[in-house]
Parts: sequence; C-alpha cells; structure tokens
Amino acid sequence: VVELGMPSRSVVTTCAYCGVGCSFKAELRGDELVRMVPYKDGGANEGHSCVKGRFAFGYATHPDRVLKPMVREKITDPWREVEWEEAIQTVAAKMRAIQDAYGPSSIGAISSSRCTNEEVYVVQKMVRAAFGNNNVDTCARVCHSPTGYGLKQTFGESAGTQDFRSVAEADLIMVIGANPTDGHPVFASRMKRRLREGAGLVVVDPRRIDLVRSPHIEAAHHLQLKPSTNVAVINAMAHVVVTEGLVDRSFVEARCEGFDEWAQFVALPENSPEATEPITGVPADQLRAAARLYAQAPNAAIYYGLGVTEHSQGSTMVMGMANLAMACGNIGREGVGVNPLRGQNNVQGSCDMGSFPHEFTGYRHVSDDAVRTVFEELWGRSLLPEPGLRIPNMFDAAIDGSFRGLFVHGEDIAQSDPNLQHVSAALAAMDLVVVQDLFLNETAKFAHVFLPGASFLEKDGTFTNAERRINRVRAVMKPKTGKHEWQIVCEIATAMGYPMAYDHPSQIMDEIAQVTPTFKGVSFELLDKLGSVQWPCNDEAPQGTPTMHVDAFVRGKGKFAVTAYVPTDERTTSRFPLVLTTGRILSQYNVGAQTRRTGNVAWHPEDLLELHPLDAENRGITDGDMVTLTSRVGSTTLRARVSDRMPPGVVYTTFHHPVTGANVVTTENSDWATNCPEYKVTAVQVGLAHPL
Ligand code: SF4
Repeated sequence: VVELGMPSRSVVTTCAYCGVGCSFKAELRGDELVRMVPYKDGGANEGHSCVKGRFAFGYATHPDRVLKPMVREKITDPWREVEWEEAIQTVAAKMRAIQDAYGPSSIGAISSSRCTNEEVYVVQKMVRAAFGNNNVDTCARVCHSPTGYGLKQTFGESAGTQDFRSVAEADLIMVIGANPTDGHPVFASRMKRRLREGAGLVVVDPRRIDLVRSPHIEAAHHLQLKPSTNVAVINAMAHVVVTEGLVDRSFVEARCEGFDEWAQFVALPENSPEATEPITGVPADQLRAAARLYAQAPNAAIYYGLGVTEHSQGSTMVMGMANLAMACGNIGREGVGVNPLRGQNNVQGSCDMGSFPHEFTGYRHVSDDAVRTVFEELWGRSLLPEPGLRIPNMFDAAIDGSFRGLFVHGEDIAQSDPNLQHVSAALAAMDLVVVQDLFLNETAKFAHVFLPGASFLEKDGTFTNAERRINRVRAVMKPKTGKHEWQIVCEIATAMGYPMAYDHPSQIMDEIAQVTPTFKGVSFELLDKLGSVQWPCNDEAPQGTPTMHVDAFVRGKGKFAVTAYVPTDERTTSRFPLVLTTGRILSQYNVGAQTRRTGNVAWHPEDLLELHPLDAENRGITDGDMVTLTSRVGSTTLRARVSDRMPPGVVYTTFHHPVTGANVVTTENSDWATNCPEYKVTAVQVGLAHPL
C-alpha cells in the first residue's frame, strides 16, 4: 500500500479497470495522488473496491509514460519527438494521401473500451464524417460483440437486463463462463453475500472456479462442460424445461413470440441431457437437476462472461440463455435476468456510442434512412448506408493491400487479438499506423505516429458499466501531455477538412443525448445531481432504468430463437490433443499494460499454464517446469502449474504478459455472427521445454 501523506483535497471519479465501474474518492496532496478510497455512495460499489482499483493506479505516473508525440517514416527508424501540430498534420496528410491513392475506404479506426464515452463518440464521428466511411470498430469486437447481437435479437436491446443491486433478490444464481471472483471482484462480493444468505448456485464452466466451493458457499451443481459445448448444454436445459412442463406459460403467452417453433426444436430427442452427455461431458442427471433448480426458483438470474461469448457460437449461446430466461419467466423484475459481466471499464459505453461499423449510437443501423438523416443534418455530411470493416476484415484487407491506414485508440491489438502472426503481418503491411496510448505498447512497434494519451486521472467524461450505469469520470490533474484525447481526435478531423470542436466533454455528451433516444435525458448536470444514472434515461424514464423489459420487451415481444448446436471447426487431433482456454486473474488486468506497471505485478509475475495431473504425468511435467504450448498457428513457452482445477484434456492460461503471449497460439476461428474470436477453444500440445 502506497500512502504518501495526508490528503488536502479529493475528487470523486470512476475506476478505469473492469466493467463493475466502482466509484472512488481520489485523495490528493497538492497535485500528488495520495490514495484511492472507495466511495460509499458509489452506485455500483457502495463503498467497496478491489486490489486493482484501490492500489493499482501507479501506472498513471510511471516513467514509461510517453508524454510527447512522436513520428517516424519507417517502423525501423528511431522515433522523433515533435510538437502536437506536426503530429496532427502528419496524421491528416498521410490519411488523405492514402485515400487519394487507394480510395475512401482504405483507412479506418479502432476505438477503445478503456476510453470515455465522449472520446469514443468523437472517434466514430471522425471516421464517419471526416474519413467518409464506416470503418470504425471497437475492441468489444473481441469480447462482448455476441452479447450485443444476441440480446438485440431476442430482447431488442444490446445490454444486460438488471442492475447489480438486483442480485440480492435472486433465489438461484447461474454463473456461466465467468469467474467473478477474479474478473469482477466487487460484484462477486455482492453475489457471495446473497449466496451465503441461501440462494442456490449453478456454475457452468470447464474450470473449477473459486465460486464452486468457497467459505460458506457450495454450488449445488458445477456443470463442468467440455469447452465449446455451451449451446448443447443450454439446449439440454431448455429440453428439460419444455418436456417436464416447467415453462411459465402465462409469461410466454403474454410477452413472447416464436415459442412453439423453439419448443418443438428443444424437445427433439437429440437435445435431451442423455443425448448431449457424450458431446458436453455433463452427466445427464446433474444437468436435469440444474435445469429444474433454475426453472423452479421464484427468481433465477443468469450472469455470464467471456466463456459464453468468445466462441464460434457465442451469439447463439447468448440467444440460448435469453430463450431459457423467457421460457421460465425470468425477465422484467428484480432478481432475474440475463446479465453480461463486462470485462473493460467502458465496454458497454463503447458499444453504446456507435463504434461498431454497422451502427450509430444507441444500436441503430447505418442503413436506416431516418436515423442517418438525423446525423447527416447535425454533422453536415452525407453518410454511407453500408456497414464498414470489422477489425478482422481490416486485417485481411491490409494483407490484400486495400486497407492501408489505421488509427488505433487505446488498444494493444498486437497483444490482445488472436493469431498474432496474422495481426503483425497486417500492421506491417500498412502505410500508416497511428497509435494513441499511454505507453509504447506492442502495437506501437508497428506505428509511424505515436500520440500520447491521458490516464483516467487526467480525463473528464463518463464510463458506462455492465449494468448500463453512466458514471462520471472527473479529472484529478491536467493531461500530462498537454492535450485531452478528445481534442486530439477533433484536431485530426479538422486537419482532414472536417471541422470538429468542443469546449468541454459535457458538450459532447449533450450532442450524444441529442442524437440518441436512450440517452435523451443524460447530461453532466444530471449525473452530478444523481451521482450516476442507468440508461435508458429519457422522457419516459427521467431517473434512468435499473431493470429493463418490465412490462414489455424493448422490441415489443421477446423473440425465441432456434439455437442449433454446431460443433466448432477447432478439433483436437493426435498432434494437438489438448484444448486450451484462457482467462484472467484478480491482481492483473487484460494485457497488463497498466497492472504490470504497479506493485500488483508481484502477485502474478508471469502467466502460468494450468494442466491436470494426468496430462502432466503423461508428459513428464512437474509443477514449475517450463513447457512449450503449441497450436497449429504458433508456439510459446511458459511455466506449468499442475492443478486439478481443469479436467484432463483441458489446459488454461492467462494473457497478462507479452513475453508469454498466449495469443500467439489462439486461432482465426470466430463467432459466426460477429467475428468475436474463439479465444476459449484452441487445440494445443504441451511438452517440456528443453534448454538449448
Ligand atoms: Fe475497479 Fe472492477 Fe475492482 Fe471495482 S471491481 S475496483 S471497477 S477493477
């Protein structure tokens, strides 16, 4: 714990790590941040915090921070520090030159779920209005894009249904493909409180996460499924509900459509627990018992994470969970729902802000003439009705030579995205890569222009957490770089011939509210008055909306979707007989760019490969040995941790350290609807690493 002395002032702001969105009082002495104190009136955390938000803020003042813009002609040249004006003019001139030579669609941008709503909004506006195309995507592409798709199809809104507080009303909690203890610790505490009070627990996960058995908590059922078989499990649970007469008929008849076709599908014998047991590995009697618990609980809530979405059937599984919740009437009141546990601090917000290539703010398709007209009139530009390129399409087009200029805002795609060899080749093929970040990250190795970013302590704006709560982010200090990130984006757009300017991020939020029906009532003034607000916030709900779909679904009737199980293309073979799945650990955060630059790194100095004792013994591996991890696309070396948390045949690692680079081995497979990568299923081999 670093405590530097008694504070003289404090500012209430929001944690910049996970999607729980905890509020903190940043306490300062002069301009020096002394400590982060969890804020008791924080809507998401009510005075609680975890080891990241509370202690891991030292990265913001780490000497690795780059504070001056830098340019270079070739990526093999040394960096040259320049003034902001030269950096911005360089980006604008090169982007325009690429468009002149290769066409308007040859450039694009990736916005960040780490940045504020206001910053994300101006990035997508720059792309659509100044670049003149829809080639903007967000890093949510690689995590929760199936959530956006699946919940939109079934419920009509691309967001979780409940607020966190609602978990206190749940009688049965089903956690699917999430590890809240490590990934969302403050929400996990709320959930555990309810579990200790007696709520039932079902865990669906290939790994025995802590929640399965922890002090005073024991899951009624741990469905330890084989990776990639989520959809077969959820269909089998639905089979039990339909064939055993557990459907909430009155809810379905009053509120839903498409039930009969869906019910006939899930009732097919091939979807029964007995028929699917060889596919999923889940004992049929255990699955039947879990399905009955879920269906018969007065209030049953589903919480899920990337173990649902990062699959070739990620979107199908999201719809499968929505089907199950509707069939049992578990939507529209406290203690129920389908709730994504979002990974990054502003992944919900970056999606809300229109940074997908097919959608404006509020999830409205770019082909919708009426919606497009609203933006065209306000922005004074005609906009394209065709969706732009998704991130993986950008990489493919770069290798083809048709996509040649990329602005990367606050993301380290050369560490976080799958099949890194492909990503590296794509970045290396571009004429211009612009990176805006705090540090010279892995992606910056391919950059021609580096624009230094501001830490969350230097930002003014908003983040939106996993429960749709818009929290204020307040600057504790001025940007160390001399410029706000939204200003940099506006100046690039202006230099490209499309004037963009605001005096303050509150004006950006006012514009967001003007063009986005679900944000119509949102303003900094309201947020400062209420502390935070959950969207939709508009004339119908001026105080926000903690629980969605109360009297009717956003789309009118909830829509059942037939969700056939389709096996992944990723198959184990004699050469790659194990399945790798990945996740993260409490003290670290994603690619580790921040937490590795804090004292937290001492708790987890390297990524470890967990493997079952049988798999270890078969390979002559003992705990602590260095091993090679190899897939059909790449290989890396890391230390083994022999553990029975994983079943035989499945191995697990984290991806916090670039030196081990787990994404060197993950593949190009992705979700059929959204291209979210299949990080959770890679056929691999593990062997002892022999020193040369
Ligand atoms: Fe920050 Fe998430 Fe920890 Fe809260 S739970 S302090 S938001 S990392």
